[in-house]
Amino acid sequence: MNHSGTRTSSPESLADGALVDLTQHEIQALRTEFNLADAHTHQRQSASQRQIVERLPQLWYEAEEGLQETYEQRFVDAFFRLHRQPTALARKKTMLSYAASISTMVVGMYLKRRRMAVSLIEPCFDNLYDVLANMGVPLHPVDESAFADPDRIYSELKRRVRTDALFLVDPNNPTGFSLLKHGRKGFEEVVRFCKDHGKLLVIDFCFASFTLFDPDVARFDMYELLENSGVSYMAIEDTGKTWPVQDAKCAMLTVSDDIHEAVYNLHTSVLLNVSPFVLNMLAEYIEDSIEDDLSSVRDVLTRNRETARKALDGSILEYQEPVVNVSVAWFRIDHPELTATELQRELTADGLYLLPGRYFYWSEPGKGESYLRIALARDPQMFSAAMTRLAAALDRHAR
Ligand SMILES: *Cc1c(COP(=O)(O)O)cnc(C)c1O
Repeated sequence: MNHSGTRTSSPESLADGALVDLTQHEIQALRTEFNLADAHTHQRQSASQRQIVERLPQLWYEAEEGLQETYEQRFVDAFFRLHRQPTALARKKTMLSYAASISTMVVGMYLKRRRMAVSLIEPCFDNLYDVLANMGVPLHPVDESAFADPDRIYSELKRRVRTDALFLVDPNNPTGFSLLKHGRKGFEEVVRFCKDHGKLLVIDFCFASFTLFDPDVARFDMYELLENSGVSYMAIEDTGKTWPVQDAKCAMLTVSDDIHEAVYNLHTSVLLNVSPFVLNMLAEYIEDSIEDDLSSVRDVLTRNRETARKALDGSILEYQEPVVNVSVAWFRIDHPELTATELQRELTADGLYLLPGRYFYWSEPGKGESYLRIALARDPQMFSAAMTRLAAALDRHAR
């Protein structure tokens, strides 16, 4: 494994059909009858969301009239209110960008400039690894298991983290693991370790909206903890995986005061502003979710998760219980020989596109050959038909 460069993607490997990353799989999946690959939101609009769509012309003209700053503030205010993050709201230093990957690139630029290596959680969505590696940031894995026991987090990190920065995804994509499993203590221990040892803490919170309706976890005021600790931090938030808005999205980057100026200067080298129309529209979706307590987001995911569990119960795909019910489900392949790569390839012939686990294990792809990921943010009717098809296909491997 080449920790500092990109994955090998020679023309030959492309010519024989091997796909280099998950995004290339997701592009194939967009052409497949049942696309269960990307974690983007493909479900239909709820009744109140349809009313927002009906008002789009009005939102467009409104955005033409007002000041950019008005729409930025309206959006950030709604977002952090929904997420119950008063400290982030009060600090007024959040930088907006078109996509989480852009915010991650800014993080990567900062790390590269400071010549920092980073310990990145594994497994995780490969896009994070690829963006950082392609920017020349040296990467080392830190296994998710390091965070399993709150009393051992500090010592585990002390033993494992040799780099200047620690990069976490919480809740994690694909596993749904979250430090919130341990209440406040999980994050407190991570922050304490980073503060004591002078490590920059980077957290990708792109899946955080799913913690808001999970009865077993409580998203507390993260930014209060981060700010009061004095740790150097960079936190990425996102709207992209939450609302069905055809990939109109906005990501947010908030960083500690000690590095804010340096990061702001990198941020402005990349972009001026996010579309005021998109901000105006997203603010409406967020307000709608505050109003309905996120039920439009929750109901689709809960229903599809149940459908998948029922349909696949007793099959070779063994459901992996997450900490947070995120918008993807993670399954272990219970079969002595069948790999994720083989099974995924076979299922495409049935019109089903799932993601094979190997890409999520970016430092050791072989470890991911026992896992498949299924995206849940889909129209329930389509999803149900897909699960029926999948269960029938898996019968071929019944033992
Ligand atoms: C999808 C995703 C991203 C990247 O979001 P884009 O909108 O594709 O840039 C980053 N982090 C996590 C955890 C994600 O799921």
